[in-house]
Amino acid sequence: MRFSDILGNEQAVKQVRHLIDADRLPHALLLYGEPGVPKLALARVMAQYLHCPHRHDGEPCGVCPSCRQHETMNHTDTFYSFPYWRKDKNSEACCDDFIERWREFLADCPVVEDYQHWLELLKNENSQPEILVRESANILRKMSMSSFTSKYKVSIIWLPEKLRDDAANKLLKLIEEPYDDCKFILVSDNAQGILGTIYSRTQRIELRRLSTPIVAQYLAQHYGMEAQDALAVAAPADGNINMALHSMRQDSELHEFHQAFVELMRLAYMRNLGKLRNWAERVADMKREKSRRFLSYCSRQVRENYIYNLHHPELNYLTREEQQFSSRFAPYINEANVERMSEQFRLAAQHIAGNGNSKIILFDMAVRITILIKV
Ligand SMILES: [Zn+2]
Repeated sequence: MRFSDILGNEQAVKQVRHLIDADRLPHALLLYGEPGVPKLALARVMAQYLHCPHRHDGEPCGVCPSCRQHETMNHTDTFYSFPYWRKDKNSEACCDDFIERWREFLADCPVVEDYQHWLELLKNENSQPEILVRESANILRKMSMSSFTSKYKVSIIWLPEKLRDDAANKLLKLIEEPYDDCKFILVSDNAQGILGTIYSRTQRIELRRLSTPIVAQYLAQHYGMEAQDALAVAAPADGNINMALHSMRQDSELHEFHQAFVELMRLAYMRNLGKLRNWAERVADMKREKSRRFLSYCSRQVRENYIYNLHHPELNYLTREEQQFSSRFAPYINEANVERMSEQFRLAAQHIAGNGNSKIILFDMAVRITILIKV
């Protein structure tokens, strides 16, 4: 990565680059700001720049062995700590136990880290992830060893506000009186939540919320969106690029669901069982959670089409694409079948949730729709 990959925040980039060029990087630097701004990405470029022996034009060279190790997230003198969860009460897990998932996370979120995505990768449903005292011991051990290839060892701690008190206290002394070759970069979404004694020992740089045009430009460049659509998605996200990406993905999911719904209704109307079987197989290929979202979408569409017949557009919530279809399809939904069709979608979702065979459940449901659509 390069400093030029960091979105917005030119002032902060200039400041950290200058600190490294002048060899005046503080031993503990806190990068903080709201979620959805590129703090972790900046910490990563800083470490790469710090370690690169061939920096030029204010950027890491990108090709030396050190840069290549950074690009593959395997640099021998860079250590990442992040919130995780203990697998069971007695487990003494540390971040190294989650390092593969962490690399996946960094690869998935190269521009701006997304805590929600980290939770999904952790598959952590029952407890809040934290940084535990075992990880602090791990940091102390790694930072006390001599560095492998670089002048400085770097410990990047993502979300220090999630250090448990005992873990934070264990780190305090090292952050206060570090070895000469140790640099800590703390990356926080919520600086207020950091233990006061740690916070007060850091130098701090705030990263600002991104502007709507910067978010829109990113969406246009990386996802091929039209400039106007990109602005429409970026504006409600209020500078949080992850929120913009979520709503962009939702839009594309909605489009996919609509296509599958239209196909189901057309094939059901034609009573084309062979193609309905193929349809069921394709929908069953969606992950379980997604196919349940799809079925709930179908159920909503059926009700929307029923309402469409009442000719009260203010009661309808349809996208333009859906509305175009409803103008022809709505007459097939009536008092006699609206509830029974919705019920089919609800039952299918329930059976899929109960770990039934999705292909069979969806085909069976599709066959019942062929009957109901002619009622
Ligand atoms: Zn390099």
